[in-house]
Amino acid sequence: MTAVPLAERAAPAAGTPPLELLYIVGHHKSGATALGAVLAGHPEIFFVGELYRFPSPIWTPGDPARLCSCGSPVLSCALWAPVRQELEQAQRLQDLRNGQLRYETWSSLLRTLSARGAARRELQRHTEAMEAFLRILARDTGSRLIVESSLGALRGWVYRLNDPRRLSVRYLHLVRDGRALLWSESQLKDSPEAGGPWIRFPPFVVARWVAGNLFATLLCSGDRNRYLRVRYEDLVTHPRETLERIGRFAGVDLSAVIARVEAQEPIPMRHIAAGNRNRLQGSIVLKGDFGWTTRLPRASRALFWLSSGWLARLYGYRRRTGT
Ligand SMILES: [Zn+2]
Repeated sequence: MTAVPLAERAAPAAGTPPLELLYIVGHHKSGATALGAVLAGHPEIFFVGELYRFPSPIWTPGDPARLCSCGSPVLSCALWAPVRQELEQAQRLQDLRNGQLRYETWSSLLRTLSARGAARRELQRHTEAMEAFLRILARDTGSRLIVESSLGALRGWVYRLNDPRRLSVRYLHLVRDGRALLWSESQLKDSPEAGGPWIRFPPFVVARWVAGNLFATLLCSGDRNRYLRVRYEDLVTHPRETLERIGRFAGVDLSAVIARVEAQEPIPMRHIAAGNRNRLQGSIVLKGDFGWTTRLPRASRALFWLSSGWLARLYGYRRRTGT
């Protein structure tokens, strides 16, 4: 049987507006899953979470233990399983995996940014597969705006290579105080998901925070109309103002979502398959976590501020208050 090309299955009709993508960029553990889940309280928004974990490792080789926020294993979830089948039939899964390995890892940074000629065409095919993936998800969830929290700046940059008449990309740079990251990493146990101990060695954590945020700025802020930087601390302490800014930036009216956040009303999560484990609670109530301010050892605070205070200061953080 000949596979039906994805372009024919999920492509927009001529004259339809582009699919909108709000790509959350920055460093992990900045509250991106919470923000995405809250935004998805809007009926036209679907939050796909950390989409970079598809197809590998979630689909290939496959992780039977991974649960979606709906309670099903992702491999048999009513939303994600048919999407996988459609991509598989269109022979796109391997393409997506090859493209990820070749163009989205940090070691491929120079190759991706400087791709010309045949390499550029191959990269272009990867971006089209990424767009087709998003388009299937938008179609199956009836959404016009997709929010993705993969966070990696290079993957975010790659999306920009799509035809803007088909896929309109905006970057939401979510920053969280690096000292919160230091605290959070110091509490983690070794696991395949959390990585080995070296990845949480404090100087390395600080370097990751600096690199993740610097690259987010360098690669994704080229068009000022398509880049917005938001601090986690402002989101949780001033949700109305912060979500209004995000709504204006993304072109959506978030007033109903804001009312629910202010009333501390749980917002149901819809099929969040990859992101913070809080997704398994099934709903989200936005609340701040400032545990580090009383628990992070003085030596770690000093390490962070001496090495990265210059960047933290640019984002509006201060040595003493942390907010
Ligand atoms: Zn699900």
